[in-house]
Amino acid sequence: MKRVYLDNAATTSTAPEVLEAMKPYFTEKFGNASSVHSFGRENRNVVEDAREKVADLINADDSAEIVFTSGGTEADNLAIKGIAMKHRDEGKHIITSACEHHAVLHPCEYLEEYHDFEVTYVPVDEHGMVDQKDVEKAITDETILISVMMANNEVGTIQPIKEIGKIAKENNIYFHTDAVQAVGAISVDVNELNADLLSLSAHKFNGPKGIGALYIRKGTKITPFMHGGAQERGRRASTENVPAIVGLGKAAKVALEELEEKQEKITKLRGKLIKGIKEKIDEVTLNGHPTKRLPNNVNFSIRYIEGESLLLNLDLEGIAASSGSACTSGSLDPSHVLLAMDIPHEIAHGSLRLTLGKYTTEEEIDYVLEKLPKVVDKLRAMSPLYDQNS
Ligand SMILES: *Cc1c(COP(=O)(O)O)cnc(C)c1O
Repeated sequence: MKRVYLDNAATTSTAPEVLEAMKPYFTEKFGNASSVHSFGRENRNVVEDAREKVADLINADDSAEIVFTSGGTEADNLAIKGIAMKHRDEGKHIITSACEHHAVLHPCEYLEEYHDFEVTYVPVDEHGMVDQKDVEKAITDETILISVMMANNEVGTIQPIKEIGKIAKENNIYFHTDAVQAVGAISVDVNELNADLLSLSAHKFNGPKGIGALYIRKGTKITPFMHGGAQERGRRASTENVPAIVGLGKAAKVALEELEEKQEKITKLRGKLIKGIKEKIDEVTLNGHPTKRLPNNVNFSIRYIEGESLLLNLDLEGIAASSGSACTSGSLDPSHVLLAMDIPHEIAHGSLRLTLGKYTTEEEIDYVLEKLPKVVDKLRAMSPLYDQNS
């Protein structure tokens, strides 16, 4: 059966050239990068080379500002808890947004619950967009950190990060951005954004899973939460995961080289998919910002159907997609992002996210445009709500 993968916001496949680059570091080049012998020294060099490539991808001034982590989640945790613990004496207030990834929201909730921090969750508009004025208004004498994601993983909305970064800088507040969905998809420049901390993850841009990085601007002090050896300049203990770091470095290099070409190709395919869905299916609305959105993100609410059954039926046709209704994860509530956008429950329940990737083809988009309307028709035919309303 044909299989079409349109869930690249969840994860991407590791590119063949990335895998090839990693392979020797599982076998003959197995040394501990901190060892003094040649096995170690050689791997120290490749780790530092990968660090340079990651720094290049986000235009960091110095590769020493890159700390390797186990992924985006750890980078977010290290940024938020690391700043909070180090600077708690200067104030215990954090500003973030209502549509962040749980890897940001849950560390914030943890700080509220266990460390008496106060967190302001600024709202988003109907497009999932944060207003920088709301961020500015939320600032108090106690504010030590602002954390707003660069681009949303569910609806693809790109936030006014440059403006928020400027506000943070003017007010002498640390600024972190979760750029996990943005890095490798759009141009990211830590200096242009005024970011003090920035999270990224390899498996979202055709690198391996379980490796990511936190950019920490020179002079920004954090408290680590992994205590042990002196790796990563004392900011993240544990023996370096050399194969994964090499994979991240290679993925970063490829991402930078291919950025424009990939962006153009994916944007075009996305346009075709959005147009096709609007033409072929009635009563649909595009979620997220119409223009300020990631090139690869398509998110529709499809009325009178339920996201979970849509996903299961698409899966029977070989189409891998995702939904903002999280029944499978044991919760009946629609996604916090769609709810923050004030999308009514019954509409949020019928949300469908299709995220394109580097290997998505036009033929695959055509296949989805052939199958999806049929699946929607079938499900609506079984829905009592659809009959009454149409
Ligand atoms: C995937 C994702 C994360 C988590 O990254 P992992 O590497 O899977 O831990 C964090 N934030 C956003 C926006 C993401 O899309």
